[in-house]
Amino acid sequence: MSNGKTLHTAEFLIQPGEPNPVRSDVGVLRDASGRILAIATVNQLRSEADATVHHQILMPGAINCHVHLTDAGIQQPVGGGEGLARWVQGLLASRGSEPQPEELFQQQVSAVLQQMMRGGTVAIGEVANNFRTLPAIAETGIRCRFMHELLGFPEHRAHQGMLSTLDDTQLAELPHAIAYTVAAHAPYSVSPPLMKLIQQRNAQHGTFTYQHLAEDPAERLLYQESAGPWREFLEAIGGWEPTWKAFGISPIEFYDRMGIIDENYVGVHLTDATEQELALLASRGAWGILSPASNLHITGKLPDAMAMVRHGLRFAFGTDGRGSNPSIDVFDEAKILLEGFPNLPVGTLLEALTIHGAEVLQFSDLGRITVGATSPLLSVTVHGAPNDLRSLEHGIVMDAVWRRCV
Ligand SMILES: [Zn+2]
Repeated sequence: MSNGKTLHTAEFLIQPGEPNPVRSDVGVLRDASGRILAIATVNQLRSEADATVHHQILMPGAINCHVHLTDAGIQQPVGGGEGLARWVQGLLASRGSEPQPEELFQQQVSAVLQQMMRGGTVAIGEVANNFRTLPAIAETGIRCRFMHELLGFPEHRAHQGMLSTLDDTQLAELPHAIAYTVAAHAPYSVSPPLMKLIQQRNAQHGTFTYQHLAEDPAERLLYQESAGPWREFLEAIGGWEPTWKAFGISPIEFYDRMGIIDENYVGVHLTDATEQELALLASRGAWGILSPASNLHITGKLPDAMAMVRHGLRFAFGTDGRGSNPSIDVFDEAKILLEGFPNLPVGTLLEALTIHGAEVLQFSDLGRITVGATSPLLSVTVHGAPNDLRSLEHGIVMDAVWRRCV
């Protein structure tokens, strides 16, 4: 009688963060619901299985930690190369001109998510300042850390900003697959008092604080000299803080003095961060999320991933929004970074795509192949026949024939 158990075997079983590859005679036994029942030698598991599926490479599903599904329908990225402030203005203009009908919007978000899931993504970090993308996310069932992003540079608006966050009753009503946290937009759009309130709220709920950080040089100018494109932008939209003064230090140093930078803080982008600042973030146990494709489009620069590795700053990846990156495949982020830094340890990139992604989103059951977990696994086939770990890892990032969830 069939009990629906499937044994997955692989030439190479990859558990990022552990000595790899795991012995090739080890398999993964799952029940009909996809729950992992056992990880053991194929000989031990074969008699329990109703079917066996063989893969070239089997690994945990990928985690895309930073997406803006609000822009799922954008077909062409908003013009880049002139810095972040100009790009943001272009994005806002493109959003404002033709708001899509609700049904179409939900279809666009859903289509993007389906495509992500087919490509091996099992969880996302969605960043939005309203809840419009939630129905489509909930419908697909993908695991999601919903980062409810607050903005407000004038200090008197700080408390008002917190009023839109979900209370405990509303949190209990969220679908099980969706976890919630309050996020801060960026140093140039969030006042220090609002930053403090966000961090306090997240500390009470045991959730991380995510924030765009050091995405381009203009925010440094705002904190060091109280000048530059962000001051001009904020003044133009009526969002300037009249008591703001030049601090003579960077936002990272400023936040560190405020006590914001700790093991629960996640800085997104870090493109403009200096080696010293990256070392500071690492020494506080903070995390990074990198979106190199988006950085190349907007600022033409890559984050200094070599310095991150040197100082032990742990990072994950996100594809950012379609306004700056047409790709929604998080593996492309690893690929771009490896093209820019050919000496990066590829194992670190695989950790960023899986186990570090899961840790950054606070999903403890994802990112590794674990008994009891039900998350899809990722089956990968690469060109050629990798004969050592380096070429195997390199093949997964740079040279996959296909990837799919199983
Ligand atoms: Zn972003």
